[in-house]
Amino acid sequence: MEVILQNLTKRFPSRNKKHEDVIAVNDFSFRIPDGELIGLLGPSGCGKSTTLNLISGLLQPTSGKIFFGEDDVTELPPEHRGIGLVFQNYALYPHLTVKQNILFPLQNLKGKDKLSKEEMLERAYEAAGLVQIGELMDRKPGELSGGQQQRVAIARALVKMPRVLLLDEPLSNLDARLRLQTREEIRRIQRETKITTIFVTHDQEEAMSISDRIVVMKEGIVQQIGKPQEVYDNPDNLFVARFLGTPPINVLEGRVKDKQLFIGQEAVLAVDGVADQEVYVGIRPEGFRLQEDGPLTCVLSRVEVMGRDSSVVFTHEASLNPTVRSVLSTDAGVDFRVEHPEKAEGTKIRFALVPRKVMLFHKKTEERIAATIQSF
Ligand code: ADP
Ligand code: MG
Repeated sequence: MEVILQNLTKRFPSRNKKHEDVIAVNDFSFRIPDGELIGLLGPSGCGKSTTLNLISGLLQPTSGKIFFGEDDVTELPPEHRGIGLVFQNYALYPHLTVKQNILFPLQNLKGKDKLSKEEMLERAYEAAGLVQIGELMDRKPGELSGGQQQRVAIARALVKMPRVLLLDEPLSNLDARLRLQTREEIRRIQRETKITTIFVTHDQEEAMSISDRIVVMKEGIVQQIGKPQEVYDNPDNLFVARFLGTPPINVLEGRVKDKQLFIGQEAVLAVDGVADQEVYVGIRPEGFRLQEDGPLTCVLSRVEVMGRDSSVVFTHEASLNPTVRSVLSTDAGVDFRVEHPEKAEGTKIRFALVPRKVMLFHKKTEERIAATIQSF
């Protein structure tokens, strides 16, 4: 089911005159193609849950419209929208068994939607099978792990065969390993059922790993929509650049002059198509190469070796953060403590920069500056 959001806005009026109204969702327009999984991503308070609740019908928009396919559902109550909802806290009925919990939404169907007992059981077992909890049907929620409870909640959302599946931070209560496993499960189920799904999270890695497309929000306003890798490689502004990626992008003050990018006094890259100006330079952690005659000179803080990757942490006076972090393959021989004891903390190290990992942003607007960047 295609979902269309048309200039969707939600304003929460202030309770007293001292505070301004909150515009939780501000003029959000987007067409979600049938069968896609969309990750709605942004920091806490940016309007993700409000957006989801507008789509579900739990909230009414201040202005704008919502369509499911051809149907204008803006005025339709939640129970008639054909949605499945899953929240962070699994919200199961504690006194009912897993089977009864999953059957519950079906027992309330009325009129032409009403199912026979056999049909209900068949659907319940089918949904339980999808999330692989078929053998837990007679337990109570209290006898399940968090991950299993969340599977029950997902089965309960799927059993009505929803047109649209809405998930609000469904993995946030799970421990790290289970979170990883369950997000892969959600992806598998979504692929199998092809239900258009909107997945809300503040965790960029989670959104990047399972979404067909991500929507990055900030203070109620959509910042960028795109395939995860596209948004990571080509962020439209500094906020998006910073929000995606772990470790995060490094930001330094720089200057474009005579087709050269300067960081401090050093010309580090060739730049074409940019007028002379002060800029912010974003450098992804994987954008550094150790090079003895490299153009960027930094002061070594420490090396962290973590299996496959090593982080070389250093300082540079142009950096907005106290330290700059690069990620290099451990094979690149970066363990100075062992290989080069003379290169201890405080010594100078030099890097070359990988042009496609370097981005320029306007100093004032923080918008991305279109530029052709190359090594000398
Ligand atoms: P997120 O899910 O991204 O953390 P929310 O959508 O819950 O963000 O909230 C977005 C903004 O709207 C926040 O500033 C929040 O305080 C405000 N907000 C959410 N619900 C209400 C409400 N019922 N009344 C007033 N303000 C609200
Ligand atoms: Mg929320």
